[in-house]
Amino acid sequence: TRVITSASTREDEAIEASIRPKKLSEYLGQAPVREQMQIYIEAAKARGEALDHVLIFGPPGLGKTTLSHVIANELGVGLRQTSGPVIEKAGDLAALLTNLQPHDVLFVDEIHRLSPIVEEVLYPAMEDFQIDIMIGEGPAARSIKLDLPPFTLIGATTRAGLLTAPLRDRFGIVQRLEFYTPEELTRIVRRSATILGIACTPEGAAEIANRSRGTPRIANRLLRRVRDFAQVRAAGNIDRDVADLAMQMLKVDPQGFDELDRRLLRTIVESFDGGPVGVESLAAALSEERGTLEDVIEPYLIQQGYLMRTARGRMATSKAYRHLGLRPKPGAHD
Ligand code: ADP
Repeated sequence: TRVITSASTREDEAIEASIRPKKLSEYLGQAPVREQMQIYIEAAKARGEALDHVLIFGPPGLGKTTLSHVIANELGVGLRQTSGPVIEKAGDLAALLTNLQPHDVLFVDEIHRLSPIVEEVLYPAMEDFQIDIMIGEGPAARSIKLDLPPFTLIGATTRAGLLTAPLRDRFGIVQRLEFYTPEELTRIVRRSATILGIACTPEGAAEIANRSRGTPRIANRLLRRVRDFAQVRAAGNIDRDVADLAMQMLKVDPQGFDELDRRLLRTIVESFDGGPVGVESLAAALSEERGTLEDVIEPYLIQQGYLMRTARGRMATSKAYRHLGLRPKPGAHD
């Protein structure tokens, strides 16, 4: 699999438990989000109410799940975790909701993938802490209203635009996570190294951070891969040179791009004359899924200025040409 995939792997899950921040003070970076959430949490606690529903959006691996756990922990309430595609029937959602303790958090990952029927049940649950459920079948069927304990729904999604408007409107708090700066990621790498007992110089941590595509999950994963390399080649100590050599072996370039990123840029430049090329054609040319391109690969390339998303399709910028060692096409955007 891709080393710099931002999707979670089983190895991540195992180590996650020890390095995942539990308190807001340990949740590094995302300063505006942290400051706002601190206020909302304190206010809800002071009023003795459930926190308003929270929608968190941002590319995979930026800390949506982590933030949800941190919020529940700071509120001093329980958290139940599920995801959009897992809730198949209205009854599944009803079972989850009726089992919550007052003020608990229900965390729904990939909330944009809820079925329309389940979404309908969610609206009154979010608004009035009530659900309508159908009892019986056929002519004898009737609907009854059930009261729910006040709860906080935290929904996570990769892009806000994927949500239906009625669902989005029912969240009182909307937070957008941004890619982390190299400095923030350096702090995250150093914190993880300390927890995992890995010897890593500040320069070594910075080198890993610079190549982590603004994403904590990738930073933590690269740290572990570099540790393996250091163990075998450098008596376990990570410094800048060791980190650099390990990344070369992993084919992660100084920008944090891997084969797939480079292939994407090269395909636009060579097969589509720099673009614009539609996302479907691009996905087909790369044999990748459109969703993977849009949610996982493109956001960082766009944020870093290598790719532009225009109404007519994707375009490689002059930065992309230079990254591939080519002279920019006349008229290419900067
Ligand atoms: P998402 O749910 O957005 O895919 P996660 O919450 O699972 O991402 O985050 C992936 C990993 O990155 C976490 O296990 C955690 O160790 C680390 N992480 C995420 N956000 C932060 C942060 N703000 N500070 C420190 N570590 C973080």
